[in-house]
Amino acid sequence: VELTTSTTIDILRSLVAIDSVSSRSNGPFVTKLEEVLRPLGPAIERLPYEDDAGVTKFNLIARFGPGPAATHATGLALVGHTDTVPFDESWSQALQLTERDGKLFGRGACDTKAFIACALAVVRRIDPSALRQPLWLIFTADEEIGCVGAKRVAEQGSFRPRLAIVGEPTSLTPIRANKGYCLAEVVVQGKEAHSAYPGRGASAIVGAGRFLSELEKLDVRLRQMRDPDFSPPFTTMNVGVIQGGKAKNIVAGACSFTLEWRPAPGQSNTLVLEEAESIARRLEKRHPSLSFEVRLIRVEEASQTPKDSELVRFLEEQSGRSSATVAFGTEAPQLAALGASPVVFGPGDIRTAHQTGEFVPIDELVRCEQILAAAIECFCA
Ligand SMILES: [Zn+2]
Repeated sequence: VELTTSTTIDILRSLVAIDSVSSRSNGPFVTKLEEVLRPLGPAIERLPYEDDAGVTKFNLIARFGPGPAATHATGLALVGHTDTVPFDESWSQALQLTERDGKLFGRGACDTKAFIACALAVVRRIDPSALRQPLWLIFTADEEIGCVGAKRVAEQGSFRPRLAIVGEPTSLTPIRANKGYCLAEVVVQGKEAHSAYPGRGASAIVGAGRFLSELEKLDVRLRQMRDPDFSPPFTTMNVGVIQGGKAKNIVAGACSFTLEWRPAPGQSNTLVLEEAESIARRLEKRHPSLSFEVRLIRVEEASQTPKDSELVRFLEEQSGRSSATVAFGTEAPQLAALGASPVVFGPGDIRTAHQTGEFVPIDELVRCEQILAAAIECFCA
């Protein structure tokens, strides 16, 4: 175990050393992955695309063992995202993996380069000719900015893994489901006027206020539609940004705010949208000088793999932890779109990810590598 651990840590060190913040191209990172993989002989595919800023990004797919079946999903996929969130300039060792008290510190150390290092270390130890089912390594770009790379893989992917372990820092707890993520913008138009004569205008800010009180009533109703598998056990909403008005002495002509909601898998993605639209129509009837528009910006599916599915049970047995759910988005829905039963699983704690001083505990790194080896043995050999 000692020897393997040092290999995994060496790989992790070389991965952390490559700055792969989402705004940059992940080309150098993907080249490093190919360097490790190529001598092992998998079929490798690089799927490039240009992001919204015109930067070239790559998804990398490596397959060990036999080719995919034409008619049905087969084998296992290990999935890790190559990008990280940005880091503070004051964190001088963000790109130098540093060991202290049994922990390895560095940007991406847990989210999610630790899982990638485990996957790479494991495939160095297997005999591909002994695999009877395909094993895919899927390394995606731009997870941190909306699972953009994984969505491309889901659209382009001509392969269908039956099972997928999506690497994220879950402290080795198998995550079988996550809530969806939806975002809209509500735009309120009124009429500007000198504030000394408010009757000549119609305040869009007051209109937005009325809309928000209606949303509070909707919130009460959403809380009654419970899904006890989740925490919080209902669809949550948030208005995170609001802007409106030009000056203190002008009746505001326009106001807009974001409306975000996170539905549990059993609940409709569009329920909140439909309710928001009906609030808009009601308010327009009551206040004809105001207009309300609800613009849908994003819909991310929720994801759910049954509690008693074989991969959930396997990871529960191996980790000694009961499966759980999370309230934030992951790449699991994109793997489900490819036909896989996904479970999110990996070393490190999501609460330390995205922070200065992000780390992965060495014992979890070691355990994760063992569990991935066992999963390949169980589902591919
Ligand atoms: Zn992540």
